[in-house]
Formats: sequence, C-alpha cells, structure tokens
Amino acid sequence: MSEIAENIANIIQTIDGKARLIAVTKTKPVATLDEAYNSGFKRFGENKVQEMVEKYERMPKDIEWHMIGHLQSNKVKYMASFVSMIHSVDSLKLLREINKEALKHNRVIDCLLQIFIADEETKFGLSKEEAIEILTSPDLLTFKNIRIAGLMGMGSFTDDSDKIRNEFRGLKNLFDSLQIYNHDRVSLKELSMGMSGDYQIAVDEGSTLVRVGSAIFGGR
Ligand SMILES: *Cc1c(COP(=O)(O)O)cnc(C)c1O
Repeated sequence: MSEIAENIANIIQTIDGKARLIAVTKTKPVATLDEAYNSGFKRFGENKVQEMVEKYERMPKDIEWHMIGHLQSNKVKYMASFVSMIHSVDSLKLLREINKEALKHNRVIDCLLQIFIADEETKFGLSKEEAIEILTSPDLLTFKNIRIAGLMGMGSFTDDSDKIRNEFRGLKNLFDSLQIYNHDRVSLKELSMGMSGDYQIAVDEGSTLVRVGSAIFGGR
C-alpha cells in the first residue's frame, strides 16, 4: 500500500464510522490525487475554484468534490455543474448565486453555513445571529436549487486542545439549537469540523465531516 493510501486508511479507522473523511488536496498535483483515487478513495476538498475545476477535468467523474475555501459569487458558475457540497457559505447573496447557477444545471447543491468559532481575525464565518438571519430569510424558501445541509467551522490554530475542544463543542451546541429552523430548504445534518491537527477532537465533539490535508499528503 502506498503511504497516502495507508494514511487514508488509518484516518478512516480512527474516525470509526462517526464521520466521513474529505481528503484536502489543495496545492497537490493530479498525480497525488490519482494515488488516493487508485486506492479507492473518492472524496476530495479544494479551497480554490480554478484549481478544483482543473483537477475535476483531469480526474475520473465519480469523485465527490467539496469546496471548502472562501468563495466569491462570480466563481460559482465554474463549478456549479459538478460540485457536491460547498462548505464556506457566508451570505444570502452567495446562496442566491449558487441557487441561480445550480438551476442552470438542474441540480440541488448542498451548502454549509460557515460559522466563526475561533478567536482569530483571519478566519471567515458567520455569527450565530447572522446564521439565524439567513436560516429565517423568506428568500431562502424560493431557492429550490440549494439545500442548507449543515454547518462548518475552523478551530483556532493553537496547541491548546482544551480551547479547540470548547470551540467545537460550541459549534455542536449551535448546530443542535438551530435544528428548529429546518424546513423545505434547510436540513441540518452535517457538521464539518476538524483538520489534520484536531480531527480526533472534532469527531469526539460530533463532527460528521473532517477535512484533512497535511496528515495524508504531507506539508504544503
Ligand atoms: C487546508 C484546509 C484544510 C486542511 O488542512 P490540514 O491542516 O492540511 O489538514 C481544512 N479545511 C480548510 C478550510 C482548509 O483550507
């Protein structure tokens, strides 16, 4: 087994059916994705639209592609035909655009609301109040080509595992409390949290999707 295949197998074993693994392949060449794919793995995450599109075009078509990076509305059209889930939705405007582009392809695209949980200025995301504003917006009911499938968050970049655990626990609590807003276009099932350094904590705290890059493919 290749080292990449081994890393993937080990992580899947660690998360033990509690969460699904997204292999984050940003900056890695197609040959590296091929190696993962050839071991039977088919769920990849990218943070830039152009890079994801280039890889999509060159890879087999049975891959689940996850957009995990900050997204500008004008880029949505390039991936609307194939993206499986967009983790980084942070405005109603972006949802409107995703809906519009998904409609052109007669698809329903799963979206996650990105919530700000770390205490770092650099991380994108919504507050609880902003998330509720989106979930209760009357416009949302007219967006038939998207579904809000859950929440995403990134923990602080720190060695303090208690701090990270608290952030993930807070996001899980928010996820539970927002279940009252489920309706036709909202079905909060997925909690995308956990990266190479903290995915085990995240799974303990209720993550359903971990986004792991460097622990599989090495540093970038
Ligand atoms: C890069 C990235 C990851 C993976 O990071 P690693 O530390 O390499 O596992 C996860 N989520 C997002 C949003 C990222 O940009």
